[in-house]
Amino acid sequence: MQNDGKILASRLAKVVIACIACAIWCSAQSLPIRARLQTRAALEHHLKSFSTSNDEREKLIRKWLADAGCAEPNLYEQAIGGRLPPNVICLLPGETQETIVVGAHTDKVNLGDGVVDNWTGAVLLPGLLYSLSAQPRRHTMIFIGFSAEEQGLLGSKYYVNHLTRDGRAHIDGMVNFDSLGLGPTKVWASHADKALLDDLRATARSNHLPLATENVDSIGASADSESFARDHIPRITLHSVTGETWSMLHSPSDKLAAIRMSDYYDSYKLIAQYLAYLDDALKAPTPASSEKPRR
Ligand SMILES: [Zn+2]
Repeated sequence: MQNDGKILASRLAKVVIACIACAIWCSAQSLPIRARLQTRAALEHHLKSFSTSNDEREKLIRKWLADAGCAEPNLYEQAIGGRLPPNVICLLPGETQETIVVGAHTDKVNLGDGVVDNWTGAVLLPGLLYSLSAQPRRHTMIFIGFSAEEQGLLGSKYYVNHLTRDGRAHIDGMVNFDSLGLGPTKVWASHADKALLDDLRATARSNHLPLATENVDSIGASADSESFARDHIPRITLHSVTGETWSMLHSPSDKLAAIRMSDYYDSYKLIAQYLAYLDDALKAPTPASSEKPRR
């Protein structure tokens, strides 16, 4: 009887341990998709390594995309004509052909160092590649450093104009960032796709990261996302500019000293989690479906 009791107790203990292990494993499987984060120091190092030459800026972003794991033929340049630097493009293959385009312009105007506008955005491209390549993704992600935004969105217009019909049809969304780090993250809500905007706000809430609306068209600005909007591709732009800080752009005040690193790092964390969330939220169509659902 005593032996039988010991055997029973031992079996019960094994069952309990198995159940606890199962509970831990099952809860891990239901955790929301997360993104691996680069350290603030690594991001800051790239931010401080800016160049004031547009050619060199494009080459630096290309090098850091390669350092983050992007290799030919997925890493390439797209010449846009004239003597302008090329667009730099890194394709991170996903499980489907459905695509999320992640963009930021690499060029600057003559005045200032162009750290805010838009080295802050360009530096995030390799940072986000690092974040999103840690696990398989449903969507193919295309990271693009656009050339010549300051000359009339030339690089992004060229990219959109040279998409194949198939390539255009597969883009579920375009996420653009321009001039981050002047303060907490802002979104250009009046020129954002509603579903993309709702998903961004949900991501900010669930990660306890700041996000406010600031519509930059009211202060006369535009961004590369508008090149996609012309083709009815869902788009959204994140930034940090307000009516008070707007005058710093395209001026000698656009310098590294203008960056608030903790706000900038918060923007990076928000965008990394947002893209990971979008990968799941923007559902790819099922093979049986002839229509392309938004979600
Ligand atoms: Zn800009």
